[in-house]
Amino acid sequence: MKSLYDFNYEEMSELALEHGWKKFRGHQIFQWLYRKRVTSIDDMSDLSKDTREVLKENYQLKPLELRDKQVSSDGTCKYLFALEDGSLIESVLMQFDYGKSICVTSQVGCNMACAFCASGLTKKKRNLTSGEMVAQVLYVQQDLDKTQDRLSHIVVMGTGEPFDNYENVMNFLSTVNHDRGLGIGARHITISTCGVVPKIYEFSKEHTQYNLAVSLHAPNNELRNELMPINKAYPLEELMKAIHQYASENNRRLTFEYILLKGVNDQKVHVDQLAKLMKGLNAYVNLIPYNAVDENGFKGVKYEEAMVFYDALMKKGVRCTIRKEHGADIDAACGQLRVKHLRKEKEMER
Ligand code: SAH
Repeated sequence: MKSLYDFNYEEMSELALEHGWKKFRGHQIFQWLYRKRVTSIDDMSDLSKDTREVLKENYQLKPLELRDKQVSSDGTCKYLFALEDGSLIESVLMQFDYGKSICVTSQVGCNMACAFCASGLTKKKRNLTSGEMVAQVLYVQQDLDKTQDRLSHIVVMGTGEPFDNYENVMNFLSTVNHDRGLGIGARHITISTCGVVPKIYEFSKEHTQYNLAVSLHAPNNELRNELMPINKAYPLEELMKAIHQYASENNRRLTFEYILLKGVNDQKVHVDQLAKLMKGLNAYVNLIPYNAVDENGFKGVKYEEAMVFYDALMKKGVRCTIRKEHGADIDAACGQLRVKHLRKEKEMER
């Protein structure tokens, strides 16, 4: 059964018309879901009983079931959800001085198979529906409602490649961004991609105010091929060409993500290559501390080592930041809570 969360504002009006109701009913339903944040169709008290019955017969409102929740001493909060088909996904709430941000999952598993990433350990089972992504944001917001707090930022950086699930992700974002609903500002929303070049072109043409982050992690093809198989399909030259096109069509600052992996991509030569790639772009490099994944043998660098890389990049005129670690005392890193639960399930099967 379709979920009411699958419909963005305009589609909700169409839904109303399709059922022979006034368009305004769609507006009302949308407000019940995202302004008043009711959890049952019966609570939509200004709709007639008949209308509510039709809604209940055709749509559901419960795509997520909480399976685990871990709270870190720094306020980071990790949610493990089961979807209707039993698939497990994670969402993470992070506290910053500028607000509260949620990291949203876009696929069950991921096919991009980046060598350093825990999510790649399990193949993509399916795309998330737009409603399943909306529901992650809504669930966390409902949790925050208890203390009258508000989500201010969204990053689509959870498990999955958002540009491999493009339409659902864009639909999801239009719902949570809409000012009749949660109203999370487009400039507070970031989509992170590993570099699916055709979708970068498509995204450029949308002219949204969403931020684009590109997972680079290596400044030359040889190394990037090893770390990120997507580079074999879309090598750096093609990726950078698409990014320059995006930059020329959109007046937004780009982010490049770069995990510092000890002895792999943290040398002086990498600084030079990275600086060359950044030439002429309104961009900054976000240096990311690596969250170790048991299975793969990669190691992160110490903070002082990251500072050396940072200083060298800054000297070359590249703006950069070092990402603060969140939830170091819980399984907050990139798919780790999910992997742990999947392992547990497997052990139980044996
Ligand atoms: N597929 C998208 C979005 C999900 S990954 C992408 O590749 O951008 C979000 C970010 O987390 C990416 O930059 C990814 O490379 C990074 N990441 C993956 N595993 C990590 C780990 N163990 N430690 C730190 N960052 C990681």
